[in-house]
Amino acid sequence: MTHFTHYIYQWYDQNQRALPWRLTRDPYLIWVAETILQQTRISQGLPYYHRFVGRFPDIHSLAAAPEDELMKMWEGLGYYSRARNMHAAARMVVNEMGGIFPQEYENLRRLKGVGNYTAAAVASIAFGKPYPVIDGNITRLFSRYFGILEPADTPKGKNTLAGKTREAMNHSDPGYHNQAMMEFGALCCVPKNPSCHDCLLKDSCFAFLNGMTGLLPLKNKKIARRIRRFYFYLLENKENIIIEKRENADIWRNLYQLPLLEAEEDLADAAILSNYLTRELLAGEKPAVQKISNTLRHELTHQIIRAKFVRFKMPKLKASGNRIIINKKEIHKFAFPVLVRNYLAGTVDK
Ligand code: SF4
Repeated sequence: MTHFTHYIYQWYDQNQRALPWRLTRDPYLIWVAETILQQTRISQGLPYYHRFVGRFPDIHSLAAAPEDELMKMWEGLGYYSRARNMHAAARMVVNEMGGIFPQEYENLRRLKGVGNYTAAAVASIAFGKPYPVIDGNITRLFSRYFGILEPADTPKGKNTLAGKTREAMNHSDPGYHNQAMMEFGALCCVPKNPSCHDCLLKDSCFAFLNGMTGLLPLKNKKIARRIRRFYFYLLENKENIIIEKRENADIWRNLYQLPLLEAEEDLADAAILSNYLTRELLAGEKPAVQKISNTLRHELTHQIIRAKFVRFKMPKLKASGNRIIINKKEIHKFAFPVLVRNYLAGTVDK
């Protein structure tokens, strides 16, 4: 064992957080936890994990679940393709693999939504296979400690990193090793102001010795975020409103929303109140009240949404196509993107 692994294991034994998925080797539960925790803080993901495995305790219950129920359970967690992919993967395990979760890395990779990271996590933690996981925490820790100077988002940087994680792997307990490395990166070797002065690795850490903790890991590209302009229409008649399902291959697929107009440029109020969509929605009726909200900004990893909500109080409602009329008391039964849910909940000005 190297000084690097020895110290991190010691630290992990004393400092690891007590998390429910650390108490199990059930591949299904580990897969659920690892999928929920992608791009998600543990404090945010933990209540979702408990609700999810409470309702879907095994692969069979997940495979049999109606998709709307699954999306509702995922509501607010973001990256909704994770939920859709889990559903497809659960059905594949049940229908094509006899309901037995695959053990081998290559077979895990065949499941929809399971990438290198999740396959390595499940293979190592549930089945003791020596596949190193590489997530943001491990990329940062290894880049700093070993002084990887190739950008972590280039093929060369990825190869060097993968090589280092393979060299460091502990073949007698790969799951423990992977979790210790991730936890150390998450709690000690953090992105900003890492705890270097308390870190027993500092005398051999490249970044610390060279004053480069703030620079590593290096990155090549900045993510260019696309700006989108969404105009949502809340049509109300007494206690009823109109909603629609998002069915296109786009963000929030299979979630519900208010009827939406997307525009290339910011629209003036006159265009927001009168356009091809309002003509279709109003169907000749004259709204008693019309109100436009301020612009709400909603940030996703690759997109920035600038949204306005337009409220029409209508003498009557008419829904067609994929739109449905619901009572406001039923809103809780549908999964909405957080942006729309907050508006409907009245947490932004109506
Ligand atoms: S010394 Fe600092 S940068 Fe190096 S491994 Fe420890 S916490 Fe990370």
